[in-house]
Amino acid sequence: MPDSLVEILAATGNTHKVVEMRAILEPHGIQLLSAKDVGGIPDVVEDGDTFTANAVKKATEVAKALGRTVVADDSGLEVFALDGAPGIYSARYACEGGNDGRNVDKLLAEMQGVADRSARFVCVIALANPGGLIGTAEGEVRGRIIDAPRGDGGFGYDPVFAPDGYDQTFAELPAEIKNGMSHRGNALLQAVNQSLFAKLF
Ligand code: IMP
Repeated sequence: MPDSLVEILAATGNTHKVVEMRAILEPHGIQLLSAKDVGGIPDVVEDGDTFTANAVKKATEVAKALGRTVVADDSGLEVFALDGAPGIYSARYACEGGNDGRNVDKLLAEMQGVADRSARFVCVIALANPGGLIGTAEGEVRGRIIDAPRGDGGFGYDPVFAPDGYDQTFAELPAEIKNGMSHRGNALLQAVNQSLFAKLF
C-alpha cells in the first residue's frame, strides 16, 4: 500500500457500486468518496452507445462540474443467447428509472426454454480530473444465468448470475469472493496495473 492516501469521488448514485469499489481500492491507498460525502453529484444523461462512452461521459462531466478527481463505472450484463442484451440497458431493462426485481423477472422470462445460459458482466472504469479524461480500463467475468433467483447479497442481476467455476450466485458468494473475480474488480485491477491511479499520488 502506498504511504499517502488519495481521495477520489465515485460518480454514481448506486451505493452498492460504491461499497464494492471502496473495498477493492482501499488496499491501493485510494479513499473513495460517495455522492453523499460531497453533497450530491449532477445528473449525467447516459446516452452513449458503449460502456466506455458512458463511463467517460460520467467521469469527465462530474469532474468538471465539481472540480474533483472522479472515477466512474459503467457496467452491465451481456447474455450471449440474447445477442448481448440487456448490455448498456441493464439498469433500465424492464422499465425507465430501473428496478432490480423487475429486470431479473424480465431476464428470466426471456431465458425461458433457452439452452445456452452463458453470459458475462462487463465493467468500464473511467478516471478523470477537471482538466479531462485520465484513462479507462475494462474488466469482465463470465458465467451463466440460472433458472430462479438465489441469495440476498449484492445487487442487480447478482441473484441469477453464477460465475464460471461456482454453483453459487454472486448474491450467495461472500463480497470478498465476488470482488476478487468480478468485472468491477477486474476493471479496477487493470486500472491499477496500467498505473492510472499512480498519476494522482
Ligand atoms: P449503470 O449504472 O448504468 O452502469 O448500470 C449498471 C447496471 O448493470 C446495474 O443497474 C445492474 O442492473 C447491472 N450490473 C452492473 N454491475 C452489476 C453487478 O456487479 N451485479 C449485478 N448487476 C450489475
